[in-house]
Amino acid sequence: MNQTPSTPAKIELGHVTHLYLSATRAFMAVRDINLRVEEGEFICLVGPSGCGKTTLLSIMAGLERPTAGKVLIDGNPVSGTSRQVGYMLQQDYLFNWRSIEDNVFLGLDIQGLRTKENEAYALHLLEEMELIDVRKSSPMQLSGGMRQRVALVRTLACQPDVLLLDEPFSALDYQTKLKLEDLIFTTLRRHKKTAVLVTHDLSESIAMGDRVYVLSRNPGRINSEVHIPAHIRNAIPFDARNQDGFQDLFHHVWKEMEVVSDAAKGH
Ligand code: ADP
Ligand code: MG
Repeated sequence: MNQTPSTPAKIELGHVTHLYLSATRAFMAVRDINLRVEEGEFICLVGPSGCGKTTLLSIMAGLERPTAGKVLIDGNPVSGTSRQVGYMLQQDYLFNWRSIEDNVFLGLDIQGLRTKENEAYALHLLEEMELIDVRKSSPMQLSGGMRQRVALVRTLACQPDVLLLDEPFSALDYQTKLKLEDLIFTTLRRHKKTAVLVTHDLSESIAMGDRVYVLSRNPGRINSEVHIPAHIRNAIPFDARNQDGFQDLFHHVWKEMEVVSDAAKGH
């Protein structure tokens, strides 16, 4: 009677199954996925190519409606895209004929959120990401890492509470990638965002995530869940890699990846 209702998870997937249908066949991309992400958590999805990572993000983003199962954000069913959920991809999709700040404001335009206050917030984010000096430049003049930072600012400018990141670092050189990992990690923490990161870099998943999910394919399923201990979780990604136990975790996730890769080959 006097029980307080438990707060709903930020993201909840319950028995999510998704089939892609074509004229001639139905392909099961993911099957019976159950996942709970609490507010402020950072989780990572790893797994062989084709195991349904992008499909799961598209479902969370409301871009795909799952064939079966429930998708809830804050306990509410997802019925389409919303400003609450930001999606960032490997490719930055910046328009070269628009300046950096106009690319950032475009996100606000699309969501119908272009107010003076939100513009000021976007400029503040550009400042935070050390991009304020290039705000009048064209994306063509920027390095890959800077372009990804602009894409991140454009996503954050709409103030989503959930961020979905689909291999955002994979086109970058190693050093840039490490720097951007730290920047994104600290920025998302500071702004108390909930995040789901897809990556094929196992070390990145351990360095950034609170939990790592290893998926298998055909159909995509959760094979295992790896909890990252607090001292690694709380360190910024660059330092996390030097923490005690990091190598052991890497070997553990590596082994899990071998299991799902062998399974995928039918061994
Ligand atoms: P990942 O991101 O893990 O590489 P995806 O979610 O992109 O995997 O794809 C999962 C499976 O679904 C793959 O076998 C892929 O070929 C298939 N798939 C993805 N998108 C479509 C689509 N639009 N139509 C048909 N099959 C698709
Ligand atoms: Mg993908």
